[in-house]
Formats: sequence, structure tokens, C-alpha cells
Amino acid sequence: MSGFQAPRGMRDLFGADAAAVTAVERAAYAAAEAAGYQRIISPIAEESALFERGIGGATDVVAKELYRLAPHAEDSTPLALRPEATAGILRAYIQHGMRSAPQPVRLVTVAPFFRHDRPQKGRYRQFTQFNVEAIGDAGPGIDIEVIELGASFLKQLGLTDVEVHFNSVGCSGCRPAYAAALRAHFAPIEGELGEVDRTRLRDNPLRLLDSKDAAAVRRAESAPALPGHLCDACAAHADVVRAGLDVAGVKVIDAPRLVRGLDYYSRTAWEYLLPGVEGQQGALGGGGRYDGLAALIGGTATPAIGFAIGVDRVVHALHDRKIETGAVAQPLTVICGIGEGSIGERIRLASLLRATGSAARADVTPRKIGKQLEGASRDGAVAVIIVEPDGRYSLRAMIDGKQEEPTDEASVLRAVAALVKRT
Ligand code: AMP
Repeated sequence: MSGFQAPRGMRDLFGADAAAVTAVERAAYAAAEAAGYQRIISPIAEESALFERGIGGATDVVAKELYRLAPHAEDSTPLALRPEATAGILRAYIQHGMRSAPQPVRLVTVAPFFRHDRPQKGRYRQFTQFNVEAIGDAGPGIDIEVIELGASFLKQLGLTDVEVHFNSVGCSGCRPAYAAALRAHFAPIEGELGEVDRTRLRDNPLRLLDSKDAAAVRRAESAPALPGHLCDACAAHADVVRAGLDVAGVKVIDAPRLVRGLDYYSRTAWEYLLPGVEGQQGALGGGGRYDGLAALIGGTATPAIGFAIGVDRVVHALHDRKIETGAVAQPLTVICGIGEGSIGERIRLASLLRATGSAARADVTPRKIGKQLEGASRDGAVAVIIVEPDGRYSLRAMIDGKQEEPTDEASVLRAVAALVKRT
């Protein structure tokens, strides 16, 4: 009998892997919160229609990869697990009237997302993203802020060679002419394109630049680039963002065929890429301005911009480069004891130490003191307190084996604090 397994593409993370993910998640919140972004914790599922309208029913993410929940008989609204953060966060912004707060509203979430994709290293069916959204500001300044925030987060983790690929996808004014130019470019090879790409050619040729099919990829190499087609306002916006990023210390690489192929995207689009990493794994994250999305999901037109950085891919990159995630364990004290009768006292002392801010655990397994000390040493404890059957304490410094016999609880706490300080 094989027993139960974790679902395909969904992982159990424990030990060093769980510690690394937690460290990156903490660093993400710390970076965003220090920059004035407030946490938003939104539901893990939304109405399917939000994604169908917000991301687009024809995208792979919705057409093929959405986890739709089987509805309960009494529920009439179909729900789906969220494949990305933006639609749900913007829905929350609209629902809670955040428009009346000072703009932009800066939000951050680090959370799990779900896509029924073909699993491989760096691509999972449940994955974690660090998402930042700044809603309610149309100016180029917020673009600079958001792009710099993601870039410096990755740099501070130790991924110092991350590249920021930058483009402008124009607006509803200038994009149609670009789409027409692209259509004309791809039309001669229509017969070589797959069915999906032929539909893209007709409905949204920008998405052909994202195609993974060999024929489309080849043709895309000589496709007209976006910058030449931008209207004056879009070109000026891109210039301010580029120049501001340069002053802020973020070198961008112009990527004239980088698109976010959905209609609601406008102007700024970018990706965080690790050079020299194969396939999709080097794609750590990406972002864009999505000024058209709020109206599409039933709100008042609201400019907004955000990024998503994949925590799992960041962790893989750190691991591959042997970069420590900085998850430093606190110096540990283990409270051992002789006789079952001392277990309550061991737990009381451990709890007391933790209340003073020190890491501590009681040994509660029925075993001899020698085995308890071995366990403490294996866990890297700096101090061991032994509770004697008559309630007296002895304290051992694990660094040098020195033992002392504090007479009361206050002197135990003082001695432990002194040992912790020495490490
Ligand atoms: P996207 O929302 O597709 O632009 O993805 C943004 C980032 O999320 C990517 O660059 C990846 O780092 C991460 N990501 C997206 N899909 C997955 C997945 N299936 N597994 C792991 N990470 C993912």
C-alpha cells in the first residue's frame, strides 16, 4: 500500500526548506512594510467570474489552470482558488471604498496561489508570491518606487545580479496601431501557427510575443518593437521612469518586446530576471501598470501598479548559489530534569524564559539525564538547566561544560541571560 501523498505539484516544506521560505517571506514583509505598504490578507478563493473578467477567459491561467471549486448545493456563486493576487486585491479596494483613503493605497501580501500547470522545478501548482500593489496614482513616480522596491529586495537577499527588464506597453490610444503592425508581421506565417496563436493573431496579437510555440518565437525575434509606436504621453512617462530608476540606482535593460498581453495593462511593464538560469526558473517576478483593470471588474477607473515575485523561485536561486537566508536561530536553553515529578517545573521554567524573550524548551521525554543532555547538545543548546528531584537547580554552560548551582529562580534567569549574551 502506497499511502497518501501530497497532491501533485504541491509540496510539504519542512526543515531547512521551510526555514528558507519563512526567512524570505519575513524579508518581503519587512521590506514592503518599511516602505509604507500595509498588509492585506484576502481570501484564498474568489468568484470565478472575477478571474474570468479580470485576467481574461482566454488566458491559460483561466482557461486551463484555474482550480474551480465544486459548489455546495446552497451556493449559487462559483468560486475558484486564486491564481494571482491583483484581481482579488483590487476587488477588496473597490469593495471597501479604499478610494476615499489617501491615494495611493499601498498594499502587500505574501501568500499562496494556485495554478493547475504542469509541475517542474520552480513551477508548482501551489506556490507563494510576494505581491505589492500601489493603487490610485497615475504618475511615473510610483512606478519608480515599486520597481525599485522589488529590485532592492532581491539585491538585499544576495541576488545582486538580478536584471530589471523594462518596457512600456502603451495605452488604449497608441496600442491599436502597434497591434496592427504586429498582426501584419505575423500574418504571413499564419499557416505555421498553432490554433491558440491563430486566435491570438486575430484577437490580441501582443500575446503572440509571449507564445512558447517555436514558429511564433522565431517570428517574434524580428517583430516590430513597442517603443517606436508609443504616443507622446506614454513615451514621456517611460522616459521619466527610466531616468528616475537610474538615479535610484536601478539599471534597467530595455526589453522592447516584453509585453503583458492583456488589454487592461498600460505603460510600464517589467520583469526581474536572473541571467544564466535555464528556462522559466530565472524569471523571478514581474510587474505592470494595470490602469484598466478596476473598470473591468466593476469599479471606477483607477490607475494602479504592482509586482509579483515568486518566493519559491527566489528560494531555489538562493539555494543554488549557496546564499544563506539569514534565518539565525536564537540561542537555546534546554531544561532537563531528574524524575517525572520535575516535569511540571521544567515546563514552567521554559515558559518563564520564553516570556523574558529567550528561546527555551523543556525535555519532557521519559529518559535518563545523559540522553537528555545528548538531545540538548544535538539541538545546539547554549545552556542546560537541570531540575533535581528536590527542586534545586544546576546550570551547565554547553560551550565549556562549566557547571554552577544557582540558588533561586532569579539567579537562574540571570545566569542564562549571561550565557546567551556570551554567544
Ligand atoms: P506571473 O503572475 O505569472 O507573472 O508570475 C509572477 C512570478 O510568480 C513568476 O515570475 C514566478 O516567480 C512566480 N510563479 C508564477 N507561477 C508559478 C508557479 N506555477 N510556480 C512557482 N512560481 C510561480
